[in-house]
Amino acid sequence: MSDCLFCKILDGQIPSAEVYSDEHVYAFEDINPGAPCHVLVIPRRHIATAHDLGAQDQELVGRLYLAAQQVAEKKGVVESGYRLVMNVGAGAGQSVFHIHLHVIGGRDLSWPPG
Ligand code: 5GP
Ligand code: ZN
Repeated sequence: MSDCLFCKILDGQIPSAEVYSDEHVYAFEDINPGAPCHVLVIPRRHIATAHDLGAQDQELVGRLYLAAQQVAEKKGVVESGYRLVMNVGAGAGQSVFHIHLHVIGGRDLSWPPG
């Protein structure tokens, strides 16, 4: 956990552009945005992947989605629609092993994703 990039962001060791913050959840601009709106919502507690979530995390998972709503409002993508994505495991494209919900919007989004 100590060399987790997103724990370092939570610590303030690595700067980030805050979009939303509360006691349990933090959201910040993706450093390499794939769309006009590309924000990452993370729990303040380190959890490596969505597959590591347990019954004790049910409330926290809900908080991630509620924070994503706040992000979408702030970024102005509610009307146009937005996508919430969580990659699970390296094979699915996860590159940072601290769970994060991508909030993506502001352009046409194709389906299925690549
Ligand atoms: P993943 O590939 O794990 O689903 O998503 C990781 C995301 O974290 C990527 O979209 C990547 O651009 C973003 N990211 C990686 N390093 C940093 C960083 O230092 N700061 C910020 N703000 N985003 C980062
Ligand atoms: Zn972490």
